[in-house]
Amino acid sequence: MRYFSVKTRIAVWLTLLMVLLALLLLVFMLSISSTVTTRTAMTQLSDTARSNLPLISITDGNLELGEGFLFYQNGVSTLIYSQSESLLAGQIPVGFTAEEPFESGTIRTVPSGDSRYLILDFWVPVSWEQGFWLRSLLEAPEYRQTSHNLLLVALAALPLFMALAAFGSYWIARRAFRPLNSITATASAINEASDLTRRIALPPGRDEFSRLADTFDKLFERLERSFEAEKQFTADASHELRTPVSIIKGACEYAEKYDETPEQRQETISMIHRQATKMSRLISQLLNMTRLEQGTEPARLEDTDLSELIRSVCREQNWGPPSLLLDLPEELHARVDSGLFSRLLLNLVENAFKYGTPQGHVWLSLCRRDGEILLSVRDDGAGISPEQQEKVWQRFYQVDPSRSDEEGGAGLGLSIVRQIARVHGGHMTLESAPGQGSTFTLHLPSGE
Ligand code: ADP
Repeated sequence: MRYFSVKTRIAVWLTLLMVLLALLLLVFMLSISSTVTTRTAMTQLSDTARSNLPLISITDGNLELGEGFLFYQNGVSTLIYSQSESLLAGQIPVGFTAEEPFESGTIRTVPSGDSRYLILDFWVPVSWEQGFWLRSLLEAPEYRQTSHNLLLVALAALPLFMALAAFGSYWIARRAFRPLNSITATASAINEASDLTRRIALPPGRDEFSRLADTFDKLFERLERSFEAEKQFTADASHELRTPVSIIKGACEYAEKYDETPEQRQETISMIHRQATKMSRLISQLLNMTRLEQGTEPARLEDTDLSELIRSVCREQNWGPPSLLLDLPEELHARVDSGLFSRLLLNLVENAFKYGTPQGHVWLSLCRRDGEILLSVRDDGAGISPEQQEKVWQRFYQVDPSRSDEEGGAGLGLSIVRQIARVHGGHMTLESAPGQGSTFTLHLPSGE
């Protein structure tokens, strides 16, 4: 049975059930109809015989029949026999040829020729020793013929019903299982063509298949995201690590050949150290980025006092006046992941210091406005030209790569900032003009 499709199995099962039901119904109908017709005939026979009985009397040795006595009534023939069983009155039905002994009070079925007869006898005593027999006869209803006909009709109709049941149930099952085919087709297309962009996309519905397709689509989406992030990570890591690795390799080769004094070696070691630090920072930034994109590091949103969080990050980093000026409310609560929020703050403020003027200022402000929570980091540095403003959010994009100091600056900071904003359901904006500094603003839904 496992080799047949579920549709076929359902169709076969329903058809068999239907046939079984039809047969049971037929047997039931036949037995009921035979019982009912026989019972009705018996009642008719018995009623007629009993209604005739009181109408018969013998007066002075003569048989007298009362008013209303009928020899043939409701299909019942009435015969009167003498004690010696010779017919005194009445007419034996033409088809009845059987020799049936008399027996008072019980209904018997007697076959005669092609028919069957129901017979009921009554012994009617006249004196102590004398009497006569009253015999009532009724041709038994031909239920055999009826049942035969019923059977014939049933046998002719059954194949039709079977075909209808099989076709109908197969058709319904096929329609019901159609979404499953599309789920299977999409899943195997994804598998065979490794095309993770495919979706089942069933029309919206509330049945089990729609929910299953929806779940699969979400799964495919997650798989695609995770696959893309992994691909990106591998490509980025191999591309970005190539430069520091070749610098380290070159420095080692040079040192082996030409470094003679301890000072020269010390210088090479410092350079290797700087490159290694850059590599490790790059790897951790890439990992953070990948986790955020993959969703493997889900944001743990908790009610947090952002003013207090910003103050504590500033304390840890030793940021303060005159270089950093804060404009914070006493308290401002929002649901954020404090780790991710701190990382966003660090990236923005470090950039503001890095790309600001050496003796300049950085302004950090937090407020609630127009249903949003706004965190702004402003500097009075060189600013960013309008055509660069969209690009700075891209991975590895740097306006001036030579400016990025060797310890960091891989062009990932702002991509991470934007991703963190998205994870919180917010977004970033940038206002800047060359020579007039830049303002990076985080917009978070206020949640009020
Ligand atoms: P990086 O690691 O180079 O700082 P980011 O993604 O943080 O990478 O920034 C991308 C580029 O955007 C930087 O290289 C820099 O050119 C520009 N940038 C970022 N912040 C500022 C700023 N406050 N002022 C001017 N330019 C900035």
